[in-house]
Amino acid sequence: MALVWQQPLPAIYTQLSDPELRLRIAAARETLGSRLAILGHHYQQDAIIEFADFVGDSFELSRKAAEQKGVEYVVFCGVHFMAESADILTDEKVSVILPDLGAGCSMADMANLEQTEDAWAQLTQLCPDQTIVPITYMNSSAAIKSFVGEHGGAVCTSSNCRNVLEWALSRSMGVPPMYSDNEHGRDAHATKTKILFFPDQHLGRNTAYAMGYPLDKMIVWDPRQDLGGNTEDAIRNADFVLWKGHCSVHALFRPEHVDEVRAKYPQMKVLVHPECKWEVVQKADMAGSTAYIVKQIESAPPGSQWAIGTEVHLIHRLAQQHPEQKIIVLSDCQCLCTTMFRIDLPHLCWVLENLVDGKVVNEIKVDPKTRQWATVALERMLAIKGTGNPIGKNQPVGTTLD
Ligand code: SF4
Repeated sequence: MALVWQQPLPAIYTQLSDPELRLRIAAARETLGSRLAILGHHYQQDAIIEFADFVGDSFELSRKAAEQKGVEYVVFCGVHFMAESADILTDEKVSVILPDLGAGCSMADMANLEQTEDAWAQLTQLCPDQTIVPITYMNSSAAIKSFVGEHGGAVCTSSNCRNVLEWALSRSMGVPPMYSDNEHGRDAHATKTKILFFPDQHLGRNTAYAMGYPLDKMIVWDPRQDLGGNTEDAIRNADFVLWKGHCSVHALFRPEHVDEVRAKYPQMKVLVHPECKWEVVQKADMAGSTAYIVKQIESAPPGSQWAIGTEVHLIHRLAQQHPEQKIIVLSDCQCLCTTMFRIDLPHLCWVLENLVDGKVVNEIKVDPKTRQWATVALERMLAIKGTGNPIGKNQPVGTTLD
């Protein structure tokens, strides 16, 4: 993420009470009418979700934004990479606004373009007879999505990661590719296909393992070390090169948390996000994307019991919405996304009142070249069809993009 700072809010916004802020936000929203869409990510605090026209995960929200007709402003209550994706997927005339520019994502920030180009140069030099397909999780900067698009790869979400990896791995194995990428070095005679997966090592590892790849066919690439901290042999033998990135929220869950829940509540099902560590996913009953977690709870019968490993605001909201079920956080660790939490009522009020005054503040704009290749990577993902994405053991079919 480019370095950006949030300017201090005018004093009035920090002095207003929550009820006053709510009234002013409601008034601004009414004035802007159908010219405005407010998007709220599942991990946002309830005070923000109250004003969201749409609630969902990052990709669902970007698609929603792109579907709106006549919208001039999209206020994205999420983090920076999500606002970038919304800008890429919406019409050029739509202004995408992030209420607090300090709302970044620590995972997305763990891979920058310079490190990526360096890793690519080392990998392609060491493995000239292999096809390397770069795949990036949606939780990455537009610059990384663009790199991936330009080098023949695709974006994935936690819902469709397996489908995207299967597509990528089929590319030099006699299966007709969906896109002709000869100009990007696809070689029909390559000895093997290797995946370079950004930036979440855990999503990559959990998905590859669920596909049948053993852990010793995966290496971790540390961008701060020469050869990513690996030997030449290890790099050549690996099927998956997993970028050394993680989500600071989901990494808080540990295998012993699952053991503790099982000891205390033997009937409880453990449901976790695949950004959790492999050891946690292996101990869980089910694992899947944010949309998958929401769907499991919505379709569960009364009396169901769940310990969920994901961001705390979503878990608390699910517990409130489903009092007929027992829903707890998998551990009492502070599993809060602190950057998401920066989006609050004062910042939302400030951006909306500026829009009412005809001033766009905190616009997120992706430059045309980055946008062009990032769009290619996103469109490749959209063209990949699949039936579901089991990640962990005993997991029912996961969600698809739809
Ligand atoms: S929950 Fe994790 S991946 Fe999601 S925005 Fe926060 S730090 Fe990034």
